[in-house]
Amino acid sequence: MLRQYELVDLVKSYDPDADEDALNRAYVYAMKKHGAQLRTSGDPYYSHPVEVAGILTKFKLDSTSIIAGLLHDTVEDTDATIDEIRELFGPQVAQLVDGLTKLAMIELKSKDTKQAENFRKLLLAMSEDIRVLLIKLADRLHNMRTLHFCAPEKRMRIAKETLDIYAPLAERIGMQEIKTELEEIAFKELHKEAYESITARLNFLREQGSNLVPAIIKQLEKDMEEGGVKATISGREKSPYSIWRKMQKKNASFEQLSDIMAFRIIVDDVAACYQALGIVHSKYHMVPRRFKDYISTPKPNGYKSIHTGVIGPENTRIEIQIRTQEMHEVNEKGVAAHWAYKQGEKVVGKNFRWIQELLEILEEASNPEEFLENTKLEMYNDQVFCFTPKGDLIGLPINSTPVDFAYAVHSKVGNTCVGAKINGEIKPLRTVLQNGDQVEILTSKAQHPSPEWDRFVVTGKAKAAIRRYVRANKREQFVALGEQMLERTFKGENLEFSEKGLVGVLPNFEAESVEDIYAKVGEGLVSAWDVMKAVYPSYKQSKLGKVVKSFKVRGFGKSDKKTKSDPVQIKGLIPGMAVHFAGCCHPLPGDRIVGIVTTGKGVAVHSIDCKALERYASEPERWLDISWGDGATEGSHIGRLKVILLNEPGTLGDLSNMIARCEGNIANLNITNRTMTYFELIVDIEVRDLKHLTDIITTLRASKSVSYVARANQ
Ligand code: MN
Repeated sequence: MLRQYELVDLVKSYDPDADEDALNRAYVYAMKKHGAQLRTSGDPYYSHPVEVAGILTKFKLDSTSIIAGLLHDTVEDTDATIDEIRELFGPQVAQLVDGLTKLAMIELKSKDTKQAENFRKLLLAMSEDIRVLLIKLADRLHNMRTLHFCAPEKRMRIAKETLDIYAPLAERIGMQEIKTELEEIAFKELHKEAYESITARLNFLREQGSNLVPAIIKQLEKDMEEGGVKATISGREKSPYSIWRKMQKKNASFEQLSDIMAFRIIVDDVAACYQALGIVHSKYHMVPRRFKDYISTPKPNGYKSIHTGVIGPENTRIEIQIRTQEMHEVNEKGVAAHWAYKQGEKVVGKNFRWIQELLEILEEASNPEEFLENTKLEMYNDQVFCFTPKGDLIGLPINSTPVDFAYAVHSKVGNTCVGAKINGEIKPLRTVLQNGDQVEILTSKAQHPSPEWDRFVVTGKAKAAIRRYVRANKREQFVALGEQMLERTFKGENLEFSEKGLVGVLPNFEAESVEDIYAKVGEGLVSAWDVMKAVYPSYKQSKLGKVVKSFKVRGFGKSDKKTKSDPVQIKGLIPGMAVHFAGCCHPLPGDRIVGIVTTGKGVAVHSIDCKALERYASEPERWLDISWGDGATEGSHIGRLKVILLNEPGTLGDLSNMIARCEGNIANLNITNRTMTYFELIVDIEVRDLKHLTDIITTLRASKSVSYVARANQ
């Protein structure tokens, strides 16, 4: 284990200005907090964060990252709190530790490998600062290095997770070194036999070939010198895991893989790369299709190098990579190297310029979109990832709600959802979901999609499903209304009303069924009088233009069983004309009213002081002088109230009791705002008339639970 002064010296070796005091305090703090806790290896627990910090120094990270590395498990595993860490080490360290604590709490339970991609995105999205991810990877690397101390079952699970999630993540941000080490350890764990047989064969070859690697290096060095290129050459056998993967990919046996050795030629600048390439290709036979120029066309993660395959010295097939020292650093250390470079030049100072640097790489990348997706964390800021109770991950656009989640799971779940538990707690359906939330949707067969949902859902799937339902549902209402209007019109003229008669005139109204005609009449597209005239062409109408004898406006889809003679509700309407109350002002008998002829929907009834009327000021031909009929108060109407209630237990119950005692019936209730102390609600109440609503308002004003109440009629 690194000693305290060793760690501080390491950091100071590349960052002389590092905050020595804070590093020392963090080391001691981690040691104290983890106290006597032990690792499975029997080592004191604090050796783990110290080693993690040590790994981070390899990437020459700033002291904030090193300190966060030392503290990364304190909040999760000890009595330390984020507040305390903020106080002792400042807001930046606290933010990193908080990010790491959150990452530690999410866990992918699903065994489905397709979910791994989503999980990686979740980790990226949650690591708002890339240093969180770097520390997380260092943490995982140290856990993998000490994996052999764990129980076999746990080992398999962690190794698989490393291979599925963390190694690809390391690759994405260009950290080749970490990626390779993670893969090798995981491979050894998951495929012990394959690992052992490949290692044994590599050993055998080494003995047989009397160690070819140094001989080939020597020859290549000579070649470069003769060609006048200054170069450093290294060589290695390929790793067991990369050999195994190649065997799988090419469906080949070990013997068929001829190039198990790889050499690297590192030169000063880009020009020298191509010079070195020329020397290699003029001296040795190229293996077809092995040449790749990632300098002119870098990989999406920023990787730059020239690759080629040749029949090299000693007549062996080898792979050669040619690159500059800077490319090499970046290839091995990824984003961390960019950071270290800038820091070395003191360009960065205390501000982080990750994004700037990433954009610079981006300019050179061949596929900007893919590069962004692979590297830039902001990429996933427009998405949230939430878990199902089974541990599957669902990716949704930002600001999604449980209803969006429900529709993403299945439209059946969406259509029948009545509530949601988020992280085990019942929450309103309009709650905005956060990354890593576990969402359980409560359903009921009696539930239908509500038009209310349309106001807060964000996914296309949810919107489409809700609108489809509302449309179908509306048509049902239009059909019922149209049928009643027609029947009433026919009977009012003492004419027989039958479906048979209507079937004969379907083409006149471009209708395909009798139901279609009903719907058109109900919606106000076709007048009941026109239908009647079509069925009885010879009938002389006598009363057109007179005040309709009886007409009942229907509100809120309530069934109407009075069919004999409905009381007059509104005077001044043309018979058969569809009519509805405007949603803006909710006029009640007692309010002065005016009708506006709308296109397609008949007459809209507004109260005379409704602001919406201003829109029609220049179109007097659309205004209709109407008034309440004598029978208006026999029906029910919707009055709308804005209420502010104290946010205390029982106040909602009080509200509904008071309204019920006043013989009002709550038709709809919507909480529009909610604070610690108040609820703000819009309440729609079925009342007889204005006086009825005024009585209710007065009653509510007298109550202790209600701090404000007024008509919401604008
Ligand atoms: Mn840890």
